[in-house]
Amino acid sequence: MERVRLRFAPSPTGPLHIGGARSALFNYLLAKKAGGDFILRIEDTDLERSSRESEENIKESLRWLGIEWNEGIDVGGGFGPYRQTERLDIYRHYVDKLLEAGLAYRCYCSEEELERERKELMERGQLPRYLGKCRNLSCEQEEEYKRQGRKPVIRFRVPENETIVINDLVRGEVTFESSGIGDFVIVKSDGIPTYNFAVVIDDVTMGITHIIRGEEHLSNTPRQVLLYRALQFKEPQFAHISLILGKDRTKMSKRHGSTSVVNYREAGYLPEALVNFLALLGWSPEGEEEIFSMEQLIQQFSLDRVAKNPAVFDMDKLKWINGYYIRQSSVERITDLAIPYLQEAGLLSGEIDAKRYEWLKKMVSAVKNKIACLSEISEHAAVFFPIRVDIVDDEAKVLVQEEQVPEVMRLLVRKLREAGELTPENVKGILKAITKELNLGGKKVFMPIRIALTGRMHGPELHDLIPLIGVNEVVRRIKQSLQLNLD
Ligand code: GLU
Repeated sequence: MERVRLRFAPSPTGPLHIGGARSALFNYLLAKKAGGDFILRIEDTDLERSSRESEENIKESLRWLGIEWNEGIDVGGGFGPYRQTERLDIYRHYVDKLLEAGLAYRCYCSEEELERERKELMERGQLPRYLGKCRNLSCEQEEEYKRQGRKPVIRFRVPENETIVINDLVRGEVTFESSGIGDFVIVKSDGIPTYNFAVVIDDVTMGITHIIRGEEHLSNTPRQVLLYRALQFKEPQFAHISLILGKDRTKMSKRHGSTSVVNYREAGYLPEALVNFLALLGWSPEGEEEIFSMEQLIQQFSLDRVAKNPAVFDMDKLKWINGYYIRQSSVERITDLAIPYLQEAGLLSGEIDAKRYEWLKKMVSAVKNKIACLSEISEHAAVFFPIRVDIVDDEAKVLVQEEQVPEVMRLLVRKLREAGELTPENVKGILKAITKELNLGGKKVFMPIRIALTGRMHGPELHDLIPLIGVNEVVRRIKQSLQLNLD
């Protein structure tokens, strides 16, 4: 049986986009499921817009997501080179074949002439397309154009009245008529092939069996199919996946939030959460379960369950999935990932020795369940660092004025001092003992302590907070926030 080979073929004209990442993922999943190959090819024929910086960003984002290619750029393989600008000889070979067979021709029309033609067609209410002025040039005419210094493009001679049927694995049968397609350019005047031509040559010479890509490419596919036919190549299977829309059902764009993978990485999303989320953008699993590891996705993914209708990018769902993976992750992992955010927020500076690291781990485990992404950690972590306590909330201000408060605070400090080393367990015991000794309900004890120490009515558990800030900081905060003399 033919080996299953899929590819992701980005144009390096910007950072890896969410839509691109989803295409890469779907191709990867299907390749792995079939025990086949996943190839990364760089489509850089747009010389002006392509950059190595974008290529690096795309590779790094894919690696971060865990979408590893077993063949292609950087890793090599038997079908290289894997960057289109390094494959120009290969394209030339096939262009010559088409020219020799009369299936392609040189066109000398200038931009102005083409523009005039486009305008005229549109004024007549017709589809703008090339009408074939240079289709049958005589040798003399060609010579004349050359003498004028015109540089030709090469156009593919689109057969007349041909019906092109694509059996798309997601969209079903899609039909196009060749009459709507003008002879299109396959090589530009600078000798660089166009996307529609290079992609076909590459997919064939690289043995690609399935092409999963965004719906925006569906209109390119009939042109590509005509090239497959002209060159007597076997066609791969196509699957065009739907657009990604924002919550307002318009095409996902910067307006809806970040569109590139690197932004999500920077905001503190975990790669496995993003992969899980991207998989669900269009694909629906059989059961109710929504959490999938890459391994599970490989086993369960199938194009049969990829929807034709657009997928909606639901930020709340991404946050929910990410929060889930953060909770599931080890404290060490989240601590390591959290450090740069804490540094950035100015909470943490200097060297992190073993003792400090242990402290950070405890702090992270106290807040880890409350965050949806790592960039939220500083907000929750701030109360563990030496802070100025400001009580702003009116209700909180009233609660610390209650008559029992000074006594609660004095007893707390005394008991903490007596306890020596503080742990969540002994702090829990101390808090309980205060309620008993003063014969007060929990709320009358815990709430003023919480407000005195943090300025707020919500936050981490007191038995997590107090051991980590220590008794001296407790005293300092109470004195500062309540203006209370504790000595
Ligand atoms: N270079 C094209 C893009 O980035 C690839 C399209 C395809 O997969 O054929 O959109």
